[in-house]
Amino acid sequence: GRRAAPPQREVPSVCPYCGVGCQVGFRLRDGRLEEVVGRNGPANQGRLCVKGRFGFDYLGHPDRLTRPLLRIEGAAKDPADCLDPRRARAKFREASWEEAMDRAAAGLLRIRDSIGPQALAGFGSAKGSNEEAYLFQKLVRTGFGTNNVDHCTRLCHAASVTALLEGIGSGAVTAPFTAAAEADLLLVIGARPTENHPVAATFLKEATTRGAKLVVMDPRGTGLDRFAEEVVRFLPGQDVALLNAILYVVVTEELFDRQFVAARVDGLDALRAHLAGYAPEVMEPICGVPAAQIRHVARLYAGAGAALTLWGMGISQSIHGTDNTRALIALALLCGQVGRPGTGLHPLRGQNNVQGASDAGLIPMMFPDYHRTQDPASRAFLEELWGAPLDPTPGLTVVEIMQAAERGVIRGMYVMGENPAMSDPDVAHARAALARLDHLLVQDLFLTETAALADIVLPASAWPEKNGTVTNTNRQVQLGRAALQPPGEARQDLAIIVDLAQRLGLDWDYAHPREVFAEMTQAMPSLANITWERLEREGSVTYPCGGPDAPGLEIVFGDAFPTPTGRARLVPAGLSNPAELPDAAFPFVLTTGRELEHWHTGTMTRRALVLDRLEPGPTVSLNPAELQRLGATPGERLRVETRRGGVELRARADPGLPEGMAFIPFAYREAAANLLTNPQLDPEGKIPGFKYCAARVMRMAG
Ligand code: SF4
Repeated sequence: GRRAAPPQREVPSVCPYCGVGCQVGFRLRDGRLEEVVGRNGPANQGRLCVKGRFGFDYLGHPDRLTRPLLRIEGAAKDPADCLDPRRARAKFREASWEEAMDRAAAGLLRIRDSIGPQALAGFGSAKGSNEEAYLFQKLVRTGFGTNNVDHCTRLCHAASVTALLEGIGSGAVTAPFTAAAEADLLLVIGARPTENHPVAATFLKEATTRGAKLVVMDPRGTGLDRFAEEVVRFLPGQDVALLNAILYVVVTEELFDRQFVAARVDGLDALRAHLAGYAPEVMEPICGVPAAQIRHVARLYAGAGAALTLWGMGISQSIHGTDNTRALIALALLCGQVGRPGTGLHPLRGQNNVQGASDAGLIPMMFPDYHRTQDPASRAFLEELWGAPLDPTPGLTVVEIMQAAERGVIRGMYVMGENPAMSDPDVAHARAALARLDHLLVQDLFLTETAALADIVLPASAWPEKNGTVTNTNRQVQLGRAALQPPGEARQDLAIIVDLAQRLGLDWDYAHPREVFAEMTQAMPSLANITWERLEREGSVTYPCGGPDAPGLEIVFGDAFPTPTGRARLVPAGLSNPAELPDAAFPFVLTTGRELEHWHTGTMTRRALVLDRLEPGPTVSLNPAELQRLGATPGERLRVETRRGGVELRARADPGLPEGMAFIPFAYREAAANLLTNPQLDPEGKIPGFKYCAARVMRMAG
C-alpha cells in the first residue's frame, strides 16, 4: 500500500491529564489532530501513558459546546437532570455571547450589590493554565469582593499542603520524582502511581532495577508491589497508628539523624514524649501490621543513605489527612531525608495543574504564593498591584461553599472547568445545593453534571486549543501551545474571564496569556527568573530559579527551610478513628479513587474512544472471597449502599483488595461513587475522607 505522508506539523505542549506533566507533541495533518507523541520533557523523557497517548478524542466529540446556553425561562433545575444530558439540554436555548455575558454579569452584580459579596463564590480549575487560575482568583477577589474561591486541590492534597506548610514552610515537593534515580530507598504510601501517575511509576520501577529498595505501604495491593522489597498492608484508616509506630522505633532505637535534627529540626522532645504509647506491639492490633515488620521497615528507612518519600490520596483524602502527613513528614525530618540528592518529600499531585493553580492563589485563605489573606503586608502589596481593595477574611472551601449554598447563604457561583456535581462528597447534597442557587454560571467543554444545573453555560476551550503555562508535581513550569482552534463559537477561557471582569467594572486589559504571566511574576516571587520568553525557549523551567539563565533548583531546602527560623518542625499526630466505622448494617469499608484509563469525573476520557473501550463502565471491586461469600460472580450487577445513597454496578474480583473492603472509581455518572461518600472534613485541611466510609454490598434481586 501507499506509505502515509509525514505529519505536516507538530505542536509542542504538555499532557492535560495528570500532575506528572509529560511533554507531548500534537501532530496535525490537514488541521486535524492525528496523533500525540511523547517529547523529551524533564518529567517524561519521551514516555507517555495511555491517557496521554489516546486521551484526545474529546476535543472533536459531538457533545462539545459550541455556543453559549441560557436556561429557558421557567425550566426547573432538577438534580435528576445530572443523570440525563438530553433532558438537561432541552432546558437550555442557544444565545449570543453578548446576551450570555450580559446575563452572567448582571446576575453576579445583582447578588453582590443586594445581598453582599459573601453570597458569591467561584470554583477555578486545576485543569486550566496558571494564567487562568491567577485571573480567576483575581476576579473573585477584586470583582466579586470575596475570598470564596477554591478548586479541587481541596479534594486532593489540601491536607498535605496544610501539614507541609506547618512543618517545613512550603507546600510544594522538596524534590522531583526523578530524584528516585539517586535514592537508595523509595517509600511509597497511599499512592497508586502505576494507575494515577503512570510515567512517574516508570522512574520508580527503574530505580529498583538499579538497586534502590522500594517499600510500599497501602491497605490495597498496588501495581508497584512486585517491585518492592517490602510490602506493608495496613488496615484502612490506620495510617497514623502505623507511622507513629515506625517513628517510635526510630526514636527509641536512636536511629534518627542526630546531626540533622540538632541543626535543622525543632520539636524532638515533644514528639518523643508523644510517641511513648505507640510501641509497634501496641499498634499491631490497631494497624494490622506485625510489630516485627514495623521494626524492620523503620530500620530500613532510617538506615538508607538517601530515601525519597512519595505519597498520594491515600494519605491526604482522610478526615485525619493532616495528621497522616504530619507523621510522614516527621519520619523524613527525623532521618534527615530532605534536601540532599535522592531524598525528599513528594506528594504526587493529581491534576496537571494542581501545583500551579494552588501557587496562583485559587485558595480561599491564601493569596498567590500562599500569603494569608489576614496578613496586612501581603494585602497591601496586592491592593497596590491590583488597584483594588481586598477582604482580609478567609473564604470558604469547596465543601463549605456547597454546604453554604444548600443553606441558601451562597446564592451565586461561577464554576470554571470543575464538576462538583460529580466530585464532591455526598453528591446528592451538592447537586441539591447547586440547583438551589439563584445564579450559576458554568464554563466548560461539555454540558457536565454541574452545567446541567446552571443558568448560563459558556463554551470554553480545551487545553490543546490554548497557550498557557502549567506547573507539574515536580515544580516544573511548562509551556503549552495551541494546536487547534476551539470549535464553533467556543472561546478561550482567559478571554471569558477578562470579558466578565470588564462587565463587573474592572479595568482589565490582557491581550495574551504572556501579559498575565508577566503580572504573575510580579505578584509571585516564586516565579522569579522565569519569563514567557524563556519558557518558549526551554519549554520547562523549575522553580525556584536563581537567575535568568540558571537552571531551577530541583532539590530544595539543602541548607534551611522557608520558615521564620529556617528550621523545620516535628508535629505530633494523634490517633483518631475514621468518621464512620463499619457496623452490622454497613459492614464494608468503601474506598474511591481513579483508574488508569479514566480521568476524575470522566468528562474528557469517557469521550475518548480508546479509553472508553478499555474501561467502558462502572465497577465495584471486591476480594474474590467476598464475592464468593455474597454468592456473586465477576460481571454480575451488585448494589452498593451507604447511609447517603446507593448505586448499581458490575462486580470485579480484585485479590489486591483486603476482605471487607470495596473500591469504586468516581468517573462514572451512571453510578456516581460520590453519591456514597461521607462529607465529613479533616478539621485542618478541610478535605473529605473519600477513602473511607461504611457500606454494604448486595446482589440485585432476580
Ligand atoms: Fe499524561 Fe500523566 Fe499519563 Fe504523563 S503520566 S501521559 S502526564 S496522564
